[in-house]
Amino acid sequence: DSKDYDSETESVCPFCGVGCKVSLKVKDGKVKYVEGINGPANEGRLCVKGRFGFDYIHHPHRLTKPLIRRADAPPKGLNVDPGNLDTHFREATWDEALDLAAQGFKDLRAENPKTVAGFGSAKCTNEEAYLFQKFIRQGFGHNNVDHCTRLCHASSVTALIENIGSGGVTASFNDIKDADVAIVIGANPIENHPVAATFFKQFTKRGGKLIVMDPRGVGMRRFATEMLQFRPGADVAMLNAIMHVIVEEELYDSQYIHRWTENWEAEKEHLRQFSPEAMSEICGISPEQLRRVARIFANADAGMIFWGMGVSQHIHGTDNSRCLISLALMTGNVGRPGTGLHPLRGQNNVQGASDAGLIPMFLPDYQSVTSDEVRKSFTDIWGSGDFSAEKGLTVTEIVDEAYAGNIRGMYIMGENPAMSDPDADHARAAFANLDLMVVQDIFLTETANYADIILPASALYEKNGTVTNTNRQVQRVRPAVSPPGEAREDWSVTVELAKRIGLPWTYADVSEVYDEMARTMPSLDNITWERLETQTVTYPALDETDMGQSIVFGDGFPRAGGVAKFTPASVIAPDEAPDADYPMVMTTGRQLEHWHTGSMTRRSMVLDAVEPEANCSLNPKTLRAMGVEPGEMIRLTTRRGSIDIMARADRAVAEDMVFVPFAYVEAAANILTNPALDPYGKIPEFKFAAVRVEKI
Ligand code: SF4
Repeated sequence: DSKDYDSETESVCPFCGVGCKVSLKVKDGKVKYVEGINGPANEGRLCVKGRFGFDYIHHPHRLTKPLIRRADAPPKGLNVDPGNLDTHFREATWDEALDLAAQGFKDLRAENPKTVAGFGSAKCTNEEAYLFQKFIRQGFGHNNVDHCTRLCHASSVTALIENIGSGGVTASFNDIKDADVAIVIGANPIENHPVAATFFKQFTKRGGKLIVMDPRGVGMRRFATEMLQFRPGADVAMLNAIMHVIVEEELYDSQYIHRWTENWEAEKEHLRQFSPEAMSEICGISPEQLRRVARIFANADAGMIFWGMGVSQHIHGTDNSRCLISLALMTGNVGRPGTGLHPLRGQNNVQGASDAGLIPMFLPDYQSVTSDEVRKSFTDIWGSGDFSAEKGLTVTEIVDEAYAGNIRGMYIMGENPAMSDPDADHARAAFANLDLMVVQDIFLTETANYADIILPASALYEKNGTVTNTNRQVQRVRPAVSPPGEAREDWSVTVELAKRIGLPWTYADVSEVYDEMARTMPSLDNITWERLETQTVTYPALDETDMGQSIVFGDGFPRAGGVAKFTPASVIAPDEAPDADYPMVMTTGRQLEHWHTGSMTRRSMVLDAVEPEANCSLNPKTLRAMGVEPGEMIRLTTRRGSIDIMARADRAVAEDMVFVPFAYVEAAANILTNPALDPYGKIPEFKFAAVRVEKI
């Protein structure tokens, strides 16, 4: 009813990578409610977060003025009361805060520019991500800039670029409508990509065969033809066994392999050692089921593979993705309707922020910083001298260097690494060690607790710009309301800071940023700002009338010779094995109602009311054996630390496992997680830590 609101604005949901289009109904300067509209990804649908998780933008904790840490503030730590900031910070004008931040960065730059690093954000727009990486590269001459993709799908992207020449998905999740069979592995879309899950359910209703693989019995199992609840960390053993069967029974697509791939003979030979009988004990799946699944997938006309962070967040995350890519290639399941490889992206703009170059080894569009030609193409557009050809430090490497005192200044825009980094106590100590920490955010996050200067920023529903979802669909976001108080859009804050450190930036409007970004990114060819006023366009778009190519690589891959590559993967044990002191396995993840570190959803009334308390899940048998009733507190301890948390009973969790969501500061899962890294994607092993569980 139009009488319900004063205005309506189209934008995109700020949470997951599905990228649902929304209509924001505004009354008296506040968003009153949100409706799903007909975007290409969501077709009018929304989940509970999109529908009810909007009122955080009007929360009294919003930062409304720049803040500077008081000279007599208590030592840095998680000790700032968001309702009483005065004990640690004083309010400042924008000029004072920006001048102080810029002077601090210039002083560090004069001493040694490599002492400065930046974390951008997958919650900001493409334009903001682009400007942020440019700020570090042009401002400090190096590539020490990264964001939370390092903690999310860095290993998936590494394997995709290595083997098919591109880090994006090869087909949208909506293309499942044309598939006969789909594998969903290491993902829990019912909670983490709920609208995508509705398309998966529809697929099964019309007879599509769904194969779910996960150490937890995730919700999609109710719709599955086959559920493989494999042992945590045994992905490679299970996938290689399935591919062994395809080789042994000659179910592979010889024609496709011959035409579009290389290194098949090596892969085939490698797979001979992984018989289902040999791998069954390692992965916990019967040889019969492994053979059955191999036949279902290989014999289908069209198959898709979806994966999440259960695949990527391991020290063998890149190997896990290599297996999935090999499985798709050997069965000819790339480049046709109903086929494809699709790592389900986490944050709403993690695809776009990565595309925009917020990565230490890549400039926008994954162009390598090591190439002189590539760097020159950027400095020609940027109008400045060269920057380093050396790959920069990743998220966890920057934290380690800050801990060691080698990184001394950080600019953090919209990320909360004090909650999201592995071994969080180590990360927090690193942040306390910095000489200069400038945090730009909408709330006093746990990370902002350690800041020297805090710059009040904007929520997505207050922003103008573009975002790119898991489907490679580029969409406009528009401001429905103004940022509160003196808070500003993030892109304009970065511009002001850049000018003050001496960069010749003259952007007057965010569209100018998009235009420059698009000149550096071939993927955005034919996708103009003007088109995005009225259209969502999938990249690549063939011309200015093409709405974009949902399915790619039907006629070859962006690699030498146009062919994809098989990269064999071997079984590697998790970094730390359970033992007598830490006998169980802890895995972490998200819950339907809460988003990542909880800074937004725990300030959303409905979502917080539904899920107000830190909790973890164990099998009911495990709880009974411990003498613990659901709802009682237990203690979880790993080699990094300890948390006390409420226990829940969940039959979906294996008897030797505990699942801990990472949204709750009072029982922060990442105090416990293992920072060991995948050697290729540099992603930490969030999904496997040896843990002791005790009744308290
Ligand atoms: Fe938002 Fe994702 Fe839910 Fe869509 S599925 S409404 S993008 S959280």
